[in-house]
Amino acid sequence: MQDDDVTIPLPYWYGRPDTRSEISALVVSLAESNAPRLVRVFYDTLLLDIDAASFLDHEIVETRLVGSLEKWLRDVFQNNDDAETATAYQRKIGEVHARIKVPLHIVMKAAALLKAELSIIFLKEIEARETLAEALIFLNARMDWSLGIMSEAYMLGSVRRAQADEAFRLFAVGQDVSIEKEAQHAALMDWLQSILFPLFDDGPQTEMMPLGKSPFGIWFRHHADLVFQNSPGLEAIRDNLHEIDDEILPRIKKAKQSDSGDLRVQLGKLRALVDETKHIIASMFQSVAGIESGRDPLTRTLNRRFLPTIMSREIAISLRTKAPFSILMLDIDHFKTINDQWGHSAGDNALRQVVEVILNAIRFNDFIFRYGGEEFLIVLVETTAGEALQNAERLREKLASHQLVISDGQTINITASIGVAEYDGHPDYVQLIDAADQALYSAKRSGRNRTVIAGKKAA
Ligand code: GH3
Ligand code: MG
Ligand code: MG
Repeated sequence: MQDDDVTIPLPYWYGRPDTRSEISALVVSLAESNAPRLVRVFYDTLLLDIDAASFLDHEIVETRLVGSLEKWLRDVFQNNDDAETATAYQRKIGEVHARIKVPLHIVMKAAALLKAELSIIFLKEIEARETLAEALIFLNARMDWSLGIMSEAYMLGSVRRAQADEAFRLFAVGQDVSIEKEAQHAALMDWLQSILFPLFDDGPQTEMMPLGKSPFGIWFRHHADLVFQNSPGLEAIRDNLHEIDDEILPRIKKAKQSDSGDLRVQLGKLRALVDETKHIIASMFQSVAGIESGRDPLTRTLNRRFLPTIMSREIAISLRTKAPFSILMLDIDHFKTINDQWGHSAGDNALRQVVEVILNAIRFNDFIFRYGGEEFLIVLVETTAGEALQNAERLREKLASHQLVISDGQTINITASIGVAEYDGHPDYVQLIDAADQALYSAKRSGRNRTVIAGKKAA
């Protein structure tokens, strides 16, 4: 056989890669006859993967997997004439993965495993060198074809889903947060009473309802992460729920039955856990209320989690319209000493007044984010670095001359340092923030109460 007898298919974006029908039939038959072994390797290896395990760790998946994997292998490698239907089928699988949220990297890992396993099988079972080469080339080409189509469909599907999820989250946040907060607080307290009262009652023992099964627990499972998204408080509450239901309640029950002194200890733990849960919930609601309400000056600044959305949008607009935009990174100077000297709530109060000054100094169409505790990121739309510098200087002077009321008419002055950076066309907004951050750092280092433009030395 000559070299040019070996079919080298075109890359998949030119259409489904093909081969001689004998090769395709051989690959399909080897894949089918080895399907149980492929599934086992696939399953065992992916189960070691923490991410993948949660998608596979289920009996149904295990029993169904053999059949569906076999079908998928046949569909990927067969040589029927209808490439269009075959392509549509791979696209559908990608959409399903997006819908059930199997992460794309797990699909990639699974495909890499199958490719490696099948290559080993080919090496063992195909003797003729050219046939082996053709089978391996075909294996790679078709797997890439399938993955290419699946991942494209996956991305489209998950982008659409993320948009819908975010829209619904904003809707959920827009509901009356303070009513929700009171209701959940009351639900948690009701549950606690339902546990405590019967304990001090000498009547017949009633079953203790686990917190997870109470209205509060159900709300937490089904609604909390919709509103609080990836807030770290959620994980802490989840841990508390488990500890209460799996450890504390059984011990309380035992202590009550045996009338042991452990009851008091366990009740103390229960109260502490419920108390902590109450606090976490309250502070999560508070930060959500901050996003929702426009009344408190501090909360008129945008939450940092919207930064990627706004920055990406501004970058897209700037690239499309060629209009410049700039950002300011502003950090209050020696803010810690205000807290140390006047207390934290006086510090909070001062912070609100600072935000008020900033809001009065920027335009309606600019964006202001609370980037850190007393650090703000301001997006000045349609503004060059030169104009941004002028704005920053004006803002800095206003802040420095503004008398902040601390308490009982007592006033103090504060200053701030500002880093300025103009968008330079790089698609990754993190680079722009880094540039402004470095300029801010340079302003701090060279004495504070000053503005520095990115890439320039501090004056
Ligand atoms: P400098 O920026 O000039 O280097 O000094 P700094 O004292 O401002 O230091 P840094 O920016 O590193 O620390 C900020 C301090 O601000 C730490 C924290 O105690 C305080 N802070 C942050 N967020 C808040 C807040 O929401 N309320 C109050 N009261 N204080 C806050
Ligand atoms: Mg500071
Ligand atoms: Mg700071």
